[in-house]
Amino acid sequence: MNENPIHTQELYKQYDNKAIALKNLSLTIKSGEIFGLIGQNGAGKTTLMKILLGFSTPTKGNVEIYGKKNSIEFKTRIGYLPEKVMIHPFLTAFEFLFLCGKLYYLNKKNLKEKCISVLERVGLGDKLGIKVGTFSKGMTQRLGLAQAIIHEPDLLFLDEPGSGLDPLGMIELRNIILDEHKSRNATIFINSHRLLEAEKLCSRIAILHKGEMVASGSMNELTRTKNQINVRVETLSETLEKYFGSIGNQIKIEGNEISFDPKESVDLKQIPIHIIQNGGNILKYEIVNENLEEIFLRLTGGEK
Ligand code: ATP
Repeated sequence: MNENPIHTQELYKQYDNKAIALKNLSLTIKSGEIFGLIGQNGAGKTTLMKILLGFSTPTKGNVEIYGKKNSIEFKTRIGYLPEKVMIHPFLTAFEFLFLCGKLYYLNKKNLKEKCISVLERVGLGDKLGIKVGTFSKGMTQRLGLAQAIIHEPDLLFLDEPGSGLDPLGMIELRNIILDEHKSRNATIFINSHRLLEAEKLCSRIAILHKGEMVASGSMNELTRTKNQINVRVETLSETLEKYFGSIGNQIKIEGNEISFDPKESVDLKQIPIHIIQNGGNILKYEIVNENLEEIFLRLTGGEK
């Protein structure tokens, strides 16, 4: 038996219309991980999340949540923010959250205070008595997040959590997720299209492509060093320009900043030393790595 929050073996899912959403997907998520699953539209992300939550059954393969198959008891340990948050429009934000708290068997004595504090935490502290039907998409998303965390779950599933949020909302969301992780060591599973957010938040990222997991690892493990160096010096003298010309290709200069691809014969360790010897005062020196978008395009071939 495997006691990890999530363990799947050879999950295969074919819908009745013959669409194959997952192809033999095996995955283990350890306690306390912030795991990000990225993939194009139709890659199979939501299908995987629904199977993990027990809303959908795989055609073949096994799922274990905290070491158990199909167990009802783990459901109170789980929080879930669906891709499309749908809430009864005639309920107020407070009424909806209070109802969710009761469904999670939270202590009724403190539930009112708990609801108010969670609504404040998601930025809806001044919307308690407002009917959900009048909410904007971002406000509905925040309320969806509130119901996902009110019972302090050990395992939190977030399907496209940034959907509809403005830039400030995105920052608040990131802080809430990090808080959930830090305060209780919650395990967090995020489906996301927002590569920059995934890059900033997740301790491990997996790329799902046409139902198959084509890569999984930390940003450090997934990234490749690009053959590019960026340097900013206090003053870019003619001597320095000549030096960069002798060691690099694809040279681009903007003010006192220069970027280039070092020639193969060049010893990279010697470059900063030579810049200083040529009178350069280095303000920035960076060897450029791939970002998640570049990793994603490399591993999926940028194809649909
Ligand atoms: P998106 O980023 O657009 O939300 P996704 O990665 O979450 O996409 P899924 O929604 O899991 O992808 O869909 C994977 C595949 O399964 C797609 O080909 C989709 O058309 C198909 N699919 C999903 N749900 C169903 C369903 N209920 N019935 C039939 N086919 C489905």
